[in-house]
Amino acid sequence: MSQIKAVRGTRDLLPPETKLWNHIEATARRVFARYAFGEIRTPIFEDTQLFSRSVGEETDIVSKEMYTWEDRPRAQSEKAQSLTLRPENTAGVVRAYIEHNLGDAGLLQKLYYIGPQFRRERPQKGRYRQFFQIGAEVIGPPSAGSESPLRDAEVLEMLATLLGELGIADWTLELNSVGSAQDRPKYVQALREALVGIAPTLCVDCQRRAVTNPLRVLDCKVPEDQEKIHALPKIADFLDDDSRAHFAAVRAALDACGVSYHVNPRLVRGLDYYTRTTFEFTHGGLGAQNALLGGGRYDGLSEAIGGPKAPGIGFAIGADRLVLTLQTAASGDRSASALADVYVAPLGEAQQAQALVLARELRRAGLRVELGDGTFRLKKSFEFGNKLARAIVLFGEDEARSGQIAVKKFATGEQAKVPRGELAEVLRKS
Ligand code: AMP
Repeated sequence: MSQIKAVRGTRDLLPPETKLWNHIEATARRVFARYAFGEIRTPIFEDTQLFSRSVGEETDIVSKEMYTWEDRPRAQSEKAQSLTLRPENTAGVVRAYIEHNLGDAGLLQKLYYIGPQFRRERPQKGRYRQFFQIGAEVIGPPSAGSESPLRDAEVLEMLATLLGELGIADWTLELNSVGSAQDRPKYVQALREALVGIAPTLCVDCQRRAVTNPLRVLDCKVPEDQEKIHALPKIADFLDDDSRAHFAAVRAALDACGVSYHVNPRLVRGLDYYTRTTFEFTHGGLGAQNALLGGGRYDGLSEAIGGPKAPGIGFAIGADRLVLTLQTAASGDRSASALADVYVAPLGEAQQAQALVLARELRRAGLRVELGDGTFRLKKSFEFGNKLARAIVLFGEDEARSGQIAVKKFATGEQAKVPRGELAEVLRKS
């Protein structure tokens, strides 16, 4: 029979790597809580239109990367519906904000999520078809202050803090403003016109983008194209006074709290809903897929999907890429912390049930316990114990009767008989 494997672009996450995932997620939850964010969990699939109307028909995500299917009706009352595995989570959060009238309270909603996203991309290191994002959104009616540049700066400062707490230091914050919904069409027009002359001299991808989505030309990485792209009109020259003032205020607040950034006029991200502030945090250690996270402001998104005016700003961190960044540091960690505290070895089948009782006592005392098997010979119990735990406890007839338990700590070779009531304490100390 042929072997069935995980689908291309998907992966199994196994221990001990999952420990790092849990650490990252726990750190994110802790930091988000300090900034008064609450968790939201939206469905993994949504109405396809949600993404075409928010992310944008012309984007790579919607035009070629979505997992979409026609859902057959199960009853006459149901209609066939086009459904899509979420390629990102901002649209889902904003849909939920609208659906549950979260703006009615007149306050800012600060929501974070952690979960898988799906895009049919060409898999490579740091790029998968099922990947995980940790993201957050600040959204609300303008009267709650949702348009304020202070929100942008606070979110960016939070990200710098989170990366700091994860021990990631050498990141670069790339920052730009893509202007308002009114500024952008003017810029795209100017870009389109400037591209008419030079497009035939650019790479094939850019020739296509020049027609379908000129902003994407700015993402081009082909070395020969760079000089020409650099000379194209810059979005900064098309910002209206309000967008310009907003961007200046974001930068001033970042300067005030010492978050460094690099203004990158070419940073126009791959989703259509962005307005004004856009950003990415990159990390050199990641190679070609160097964006750790990305985000920006989306002042018109709620209206684009049928909701009230609800400006917002958010980001999504690529959790897979955080793990890659941290993995080098963690690779030496086949240390004591990866091992159980104790291996309980029943010395014979008759002792198995009582060994389970002892293991339960120790686990209730907070220790990490591996339980062996009464059919193992002593030599095998020691071999397994040594691989799995920092200490071994031998549990035979004598121990069961006398309540004096034999313990050996592997690191020191120290051996002792300990009263059952003191065992947990003794093991904790090693
Ligand atoms: P985006 O939703 O495209 O703005 O992406 C936000 C972040 O998610 C990126 O900076 C990456 O870290 C991560 N990301 C996006 N696409 C993928 C993918 N296919 N595989 C792994 N991570 C991804």
